Amino acid sequence: MMKPLGIYIHVPFCKQKCVYCDFYSLPHRETQMDAYISALRAQLAETDFSGYEADTVYFGGGTPSFLGPRRLTALLEAVRAACPITPNAEITFEANPDSANDPRGLAALRRAGFNRISLGMQSADDDELKAIGRVHTMAQVQTSVEAARKAGFDNLSLDLIYGLPGQELARWRKNLSAAVDLGPEHLSCYGLKAEPGTPLYARRETLPGDEAQADMYLETVDFLESRGYRQYEISNFAKPGRESQHNLKYWTLGDYIGFGPGAHSDFRGVRYAWARDLEAFLRGDRILSETRRMTPRDRREEWLMLSLRLARGLDPAEWEERFGRPFAPFLPFLERCEAAGYAAREEGRRRLTPRGFLVSNQIIGELLDLLQED
Ligand code: SF4
Repeated sequence: MMKPLGIYIHVPFCKQKCVYCDFYSLPHRETQMDAYISALRAQLAETDFSGYEADTVYFGGGTPSFLGPRRLTALLEAVRAACPITPNAEITFEANPDSANDPRGLAALRRAGFNRISLGMQSADDDELKAIGRVHTMAQVQTSVEAARKAGFDNLSLDLIYGLPGQELARWRKNLSAAVDLGPEHLSCYGLKAEPGTPLYARRETLPGDEAQADMYLETVDFLESRGYRQYEISNFAKPGRESQHNLKYWTLGDYIGFGPGAHSDFRGVRYAWARDLEAFLRGDRILSETRRMTPRDRREEWLMLSLRLARGLDPAEWEERFGRPFAPFLPFLERCEAAGYAAREEGRRRLTPRGFLVSNQIIGELLDLLQED
């Protein structure tokens, strides 16, 4: 029996750098794209996939659509040549509206086997888009969605960001509503954070405060639920059956393997990441920035942390079966969270409420403190 696997391909190229971005992506490197495809092909070919078959493939970045249909198709073929892909696999590429608007190119990608697009919309307001360094407009978002539908993509996700500089709740509501009007199957909504080292960090005082961001978050959950999008993870919402199968692997301790500089893996019991170094990667130097054989204790911590990010929460019986340990030591704390409105109980499962998600780092931190030492 083959084990299911998620394959992640990192594309570290963007047209220009957004002011808030701390992903590994480089602007103005178009001349290196072909060499990058060759280097990825080599890395895929030298990997031992035996015993696995991919049921999700995800091209993330950076801006995968910036590579263009020809290179993306070549890469997907290289993945297929290296590892079997199940017939119903979810095959996603991330796209920016300015480089995913040609129906013919998108139709070619659909024919090549891609069946899901994750489109970086971020805002419906051109001034907001400009202020955060995005290269696209709302008109291009609309064109891109139409082109994707015309090309036969029936699984489309939109990424949005709330808490943009100077943004108020009413403006965010408008953005959300405009996104829903485009009819996506899935929405990811993230609160903007000013990460040190990004241009945004120097003007972080222009961002709405924590309370305003919290209001936007709670509004998001209510609004999207009312429009038929079920929250299934802290920041992710989907029509029934349209949850991201690839991202669910990360949150349910599934196996996944990443390719390209900056990509992370959890494969054959080892957690590792490739160094964020495009030049070294192109030279064929495979430099790991971290590697860790996961211990049972690591897995327990991870399971608690990740299960509570999911709206369905955790199942104490699964904990006991998976780790052979009683769940009882966690119950008094979870019951206190429940009394305070941060957690809830459903059919034996324990989950955080949207209010609980707002303070999930503290809640998970306290739970981890309760983990018994080995
Ligand atoms: S498009 Fe995405 S990856 Fe590229 S710079 Fe902007 S936020 Fe970063």
